[in-house]
Amino acid sequence: MHERDILIIGGGPSGLSTALHLARDFPQLTPRMLILEKARYPRPKLCAGGLVTDAEVILQQLGLDVSEVPHVDAERIYFDFEARGLNIRVPRRHALRVIRRDEFDAWLARKAESKGIEIKEGVTVKDIVPDQEGVTVKTDRGDFRAQVVVGADGSNGITRRCIFPNATVNTARVLEVLTPSKPSDPAPARRAGGAYFDFFPVRSKIAGYVWDFPTRVNGEVMRCWGIYDTNILAKEKRPQLKEPLAKEMSRFGFDINQYEIQGHPIRWFSPQNQMSLPRMLLVGDAAGADPFLGEGISIALGYGALAAREVGEAFERNEFSFNAYKPRVLKSALGQALIARWVVTHIVYVIRWKWFQILVWRIMKPVVVVVAWIFILNWGKRMPSTR
Ligand SMILES: Cc1cc2nc3c(=O)[nH]c(=O)nc-3n(C[C@H](O)[C@H](O)[C@H](O)COP(=O)(O)OP(=O)(O)OC[C@H]3O[C@@H](n4cnc5c(N)ncnc54)[C@H](O)[C@@H]3O)c2cc1C
Repeated sequence: MHERDILIIGGGPSGLSTALHLARDFPQLTPRMLILEKARYPRPKLCAGGLVTDAEVILQQLGLDVSEVPHVDAERIYFDFEARGLNIRVPRRHALRVIRRDEFDAWLARKAESKGIEIKEGVTVKDIVPDQEGVTVKTDRGDFRAQVVVGADGSNGITRRCIFPNATVNTARVLEVLTPSKPSDPAPARRAGGAYFDFFPVRSKIAGYVWDFPTRVNGEVMRCWGIYDTNILAKEKRPQLKEPLAKEMSRFGFDINQYEIQGHPIRWFSPQNQMSLPRMLLVGDAAGADPFLGEGISIALGYGALAAREVGEAFERNEFSFNAYKPRVLKSALGQALIARWVVTHIVYVIRWKWFQILVWRIMKPVVVVVAWIFILNWGKRMPSTR
């Protein structure tokens, strides 16, 4: 049996952020923690890779500069309904930075290792059994014993399934397709520097949108298309996602059938989500991503900051109930933004009338921008930066 005080299960943004914040704020714990990651970096992760400003703010607070990672910057974000709507530009900077997750996660993992954090790659966790004195983690490379376990293993993670087997899980369906940046047929091209969201699928009971981002794969500029459905409108007979995505792509001369379509769920945040047990807590998608857009990278980084503080203080007090973790998340700037997004999800996707969608996306631009700016974005700056 291997022993370590803190085990972090999963080396994605949430697990790595937890470890990096612990190493920064509680350096005495660095040699006492270990990340178990089932894959080996650079490992594939299905994701459009859109980084909002909050992600960059949290990385900066850790002393990290994400511009070291290959990226494409979108100058504007377009929020459309049926091809028309509002567009947003952030003064003096890009609106969205797009990275590839294999490169971003590998970069973050190497940064963690450079701070003395140990990562064991190629170790798959199979079972987790907490008891009063600690937690036993069973893996394909033997058993581990820890004082505290952080579940950072994503939307389908084993940690949540082991500790909350009967909990209600809210998951979104997501499809993604990569194409060259220009179609082979002459067709209207997207403006190169734009990231597009179109909410037209709401009319067909899909509680979400179709997206189209610029991206860079192995140095080549491409486009990443996808469709997101929160699944709150059609619980039983769920509409097909491929058809609306194909429709959007065909407007720009792309035939979806010529490309690989990949899918993955996103577990999203609801105020009811359970996030901790004595000696165990969840971060990132395991705790719940943004329900409105399925945005989860900045959110995962933010959970890491909160979980690190919770774990560090638990070791100082020698008290591991983690009763205060969920209230701490909900009270934080991240939690407030997640609650706001959960409320917006239940308004914007539930009121499916065409006139309402037109009102939101085309007519009420100043109101939408102010609400987004105050309640939905800009939470990163309001997170505790150092201890
Ligand atoms: C199609 C799609 C597009 C998306 N686009 C965006 C976007 O543009 N912008 C954005 O912000 N978010 C996006 N997201 C959401 C984002 O990808 C997630 O919210 C984010 O990856 C969550 O990070 P995490 O660290 O919680 O989990 P993950 O990134 O899933 O990391 C979990 C880690 O745990 C490891 N792991 C899993 N099980 C085990 C196990 N049993 N043992 C050991 N290790 C394990 C995995 O290998 C992985 O490395 C998208 C998601 C999807 C599906």
